[in-house]
Amino acid sequence: MKTAVIYARYSSDNQTEQSIEGQLRVCKQYAENNDILILNTYIDRAMTGTNDNRPDFQQMIKDSSKKEFQYVLVYKLDRFSRNKYEMAKYKKILKDNGAKILSAMENIPETPEGIILESLLEGMAEYYSVELSQKVRRGLNETRLKGNFIGGTISYGYKVENHKILINEEQAENVRFIFKQYSIGTYVKDIISILNDRHIYHNGKPFEKNTIYYMLKNEKYIGIYRHEDKIYTNMYPQIVDKEVYEIVRQKVDTNKYGKRSTDTIYLLKNKLKCGYCGKPISAECGTARNGTRLHYYKCLGRKKNNGCNKSMLKKDIFESFIIDNIIQILKSPKHFDYIIDSLLKIQNQQLGTNPILDSLLKEQKQIEKSLSNIMTAIEQGIINNTTNKRMKELETQQEELNKKILIEQSKNIIKLSRGEIANHFEKALRLESKILIDYMIKEIKVFEDKIIIQFNNPLQKSPDSSQGFLLFEEYSNMPKYIQNKIKPIMIEFEIDYYI
Ligand SMILES: [Zn+2]
Repeated sequence: MKTAVIYARYSSDNQTEQSIEGQLRVCKQYAENNDILILNTYIDRAMTGTNDNRPDFQQMIKDSSKKEFQYVLVYKLDRFSRNKYEMAKYKKILKDNGAKILSAMENIPETPEGIILESLLEGMAEYYSVELSQKVRRGLNETRLKGNFIGGTISYGYKVENHKILINEEQAENVRFIFKQYSIGTYVKDIISILNDRHIYHNGKPFEKNTIYYMLKNEKYIGIYRHEDKIYTNMYPQIVDKEVYEIVRQKVDTNKYGKRSTDTIYLLKNKLKCGYCGKPISAECGTARNGTRLHYYKCLGRKKNNGCNKSMLKKDIFESFIIDNIIQILKSPKHFDYIIDSLLKIQNQQLGTNPILDSLLKEQKQIEKSLSNIMTAIEQGIINNTTNKRMKELETQQEELNKKILIEQSKNIIKLSRGEIANHFEKALRLESKILIDYMIKEIKVFEDKIIIQFNNPLQKSPDSSQGFLLFEEYSNMPKYIQNKIKPIMIEFEIDYYI
């Protein structure tokens, strides 16, 4: 049986605070539901959270060295500490003594998201603590009403001049970038690596996940400052679009409560094939016994009882494994040169053929056929408003198509140099994960101990690109049937895979 102690704290300076009795009741209920034996209870009354001198708290930390309990159960994480550094410090001591903090009110699953969530909650607790100390300072309200800066640290993206808060344009651009990326589904860790690649730092150091999550929840970026139920819109100039902020807020909330996100993005959807039975591996989700949502990939051959034994893949772990490997492949000079050599070879073979042109020509034929059918109808005297309208439509389509065909035909003579291809791949590495995978990867064959990655062939003559490349955005907007015509580069990478 698991063992725990309860730590409860009550500070009188916050009226909405849950009473000690209330905290204990919730913790005990939690322990009962989770089969945890409570060994001891520590209570600090009327101590502020930022203060380190909490006698019972200190006692609890000291007692943890006896290694008798596995968990410190708290009502909410902010009971434990409201200071990120203090929190980290005591967490480390507890960890060394084999104990962990458990929050009865906040569901923190032991998943990568759980770890991010935990640091997010810690960040929030610290934020509220700062708010609390500010409350007691006099005259602040007046300052706020004037729209002046009240002191303290200014949020990233802003600067202060003559007591007024102004936009720091350079930083604001990065704020918008972070919101935009998160809104389209880029993982926070990927946002951070893009920022690092661009040498964009926060206080001279790489951005921390915590900082990014904190920013994503910062209402100041839409011009809102809240204080004691009042909203001030005259202090912070708006940096982020309301619509983008709203999308982001919903995503952060979904992650925070661990509920099923209706738009969980499966980066590898439609890209995975089972190495054993050859069936697609599909994106799935389910609920664990403890209520947390699970996201994974599962072979269809296994699903339909077709006898395949391919084990399931945890979504997050597998996705980051794949992305890390693709980036590694593209970044390693040996592999990079190999891909480019192969592409140059393909280019020579391809000169003169163009699958996009082929499909446009096919479409042209179909329109011609439809038009001639209508002409026959007219000759036979069948003419009405509908045939007339249809004919006009077809003629417009035909005109558009002819233009595209002319451009395609002129593209056939473009030949790409080694440098241009290399440049293209380097650019691709800067794409968000979702687009990178969509665009670069044709198929991934998955075995238990290895994966084989098949790259897409980007060497297509595109209607709008003068580069001779198929543009990333263009590819994603393309109808599936044309996408399917694009042959993969037959370059396969075998990677050992142990998880
Ligand atoms: Zn299978």
